[in-house]
Amino acid sequence: MGLDIVLATRNKKKVEEIKRIVRDMPVTIYTLDDFPECPEVEEDGKTFDENAVKKARAVSKYTKMPALADDSGLEVYALNGAPGVLSARYVGGNANDKRNYEKLLNEMKSVKSEDRGARFVCCIALAFPDGKVETFIGYAEGRIGTEPKGSNGFGYDPVFYPKGHERTFAEMSDKGKDLLSHRGAALGRLYDFLRRGL
Ligand code: IMP
Repeated sequence: MGLDIVLATRNKKKVEEIKRIVRDMPVTIYTLDDFPECPEVEEDGKTFDENAVKKARAVSKYTKMPALADDSGLEVYALNGAPGVLSARYVGGNANDKRNYEKLLNEMKSVKSEDRGARFVCCIALAFPDGKVETFIGYAEGRIGTEPKGSNGFGYDPVFYPKGHERTFAEMSDKGKDLLSHRGAALGRLYDFLRRGL
């Protein structure tokens, strides 16, 4: 019993995290490696929700399977929510994780420690071939450090301290991050939904 789901992302780190978090759930996970011809979906939405729904719908339509998409990012309060939906491409075309968080640290050079609050947001969309879509949102509140620390995880993990903790996500074990993360919270909601029955 369970549900076959294809993950609508090519981000290997996200695939790894999602597979790890859902491993006790009643689902069998496929990835886009199982559907190499699946077209890319442009993330041009203004919200995490819009992007996640668009990706999940497109992949479900192509694969004729339930598809799960994650759209996520970092919102920094002192920067009016930036980098937000542009988190993956904060520096533009030649973006990578290091360049993105270095730009963020630079933008925040003069921001005082009490004003360095931020949150990660994760919107998970589960789309079905009949067009139905469910969304699940999760947040991780915290603050931005002044220099990168740690080498686990991905993205902005080395500069993000979850609330109440003195270690960045990148200094935590996988399990430690999953218990506090926005992705863990959103997937927890998905888990409750699956347990209630489809
Ligand atoms: P997208 O959802 O593929 O548009 O990209 C999300 C981007 O947000 C990633 O490339 C990271 O820069 C950032 N991000 C999302 N989730 C995390 C996380 O768990 N840790 C660190 N950075 C993240």
